[in-house]
Amino acid sequence: MQTRRAFIKLLCGLGAVALPWTGLPRRLQGSLESWAVRPPVKFVRLPAEEELDLKGLVAAHLERTAWDDVNFLTSPDLGGRRAGSVGEGKAAGYLIQEMAGLGLVPMGSPKQDGKPGFAHAFTIPEAAATVVERRLVLRPQAGLKIPALNLLGAVPGERAQEIIMICAHYDHLGIYQGKLYPGANDNASGVGCVLEVMRRLVREEIKPKRTVVAAFWSAEEMGFLGSQAFVENPRFPLERLVAVFNVDTVGNGPAGDFMLWADGLNSAAKVMADAAAQAGASASLGPTNGHNSDHISFARKGIPAVTLLSRSWLVKNHTPEDDANLLNRDQLKLAAEVLYRAVKTAAFR
Ligand SMILES: [Zn+2]
Repeated sequence: MQTRRAFIKLLCGLGAVALPWTGLPRRLQGSLESWAVRPPVKFVRLPAEEELDLKGLVAAHLERTAWDDVNFLTSPDLGGRRAGSVGEGKAAGYLIQEMAGLGLVPMGSPKQDGKPGFAHAFTIPEAAATVVERRLVLRPQAGLKIPALNLLGAVPGERAQEIIMICAHYDHLGIYQGKLYPGANDNASGVGCVLEVMRRLVREEIKPKRTVVAAFWSAEEMGFLGSQAFVENPRFPLERLVAVFNVDTVGNGPAGDFMLWADGLNSAAKVMADAAAQAGASASLGPTNGHNSDHISFARKGIPAVTLLSRSWLVKNHTPEDDANLLNRDQLKLAAEVLYRAVKTAAFR
């Protein structure tokens, strides 16, 4: 169980997390500070931009791959990234670091100084964990609400008001009865793909026609609460969203064997299916069998949205064995390639 106190500890902990990251730009420092609206928390002073080797910093970020992200996000130190937990806060710090390092434009809530930040804060209820058919699930409980953070950053396009969103949830299930649920496939794999595509866009230095927004949702495992909070309190008018490409559990199973979840073959689903074919993979609409992912929050608002997932996504899902060993690195690479091609089709025309 997490409490408000735990979140405050998390905020304090971020100072410690930030300490070894001597190469962070000042705007990241601002983002971290903006989380601590109340109560006030002192952070370790980070060096000013002029003191940094920013070129070296960006190069280091550009070289990272989805596999690197998976390895970081599944480390025991992050405690399975349950929404609202200290471990999830560390994951959030990592994602802000990566987005700031790539020079993405913050698309979250305004900070205290009025400037935009990467974090979009909302509240979640406490959750009870139970095992259903050997899989761990989280059920939101009534009562106390605790803070959680979505994270958003963009590469601006020529027609900045038209937005292509690529997104993945970064929360998972945490620790239950002493066992770590690392969530490598669910959904460090998707987070890694989104980051890898953003790195590739930054590396290419070609301005897209449409703005590409990367979004990382919290509290998906509690019923898509992060993406739902975003569509209820969006940081830009939702009409600007041309397509939403969500990736969830994309790293396991035979290479190239994907599936799509969408409300029919909408324009986003079509682009994703074509992107898979271009990449030498297959991705056709599949049954949800009562499951779902964050695309649903956007589909309910009438926005073309789709989730890409491995056809064998359910293997070891929500078990402690969903660790890096479950992943097929070729499949993970292909998933990032499919997402990249979908973005190239949708955002560069
Ligand atoms: Zn899940």
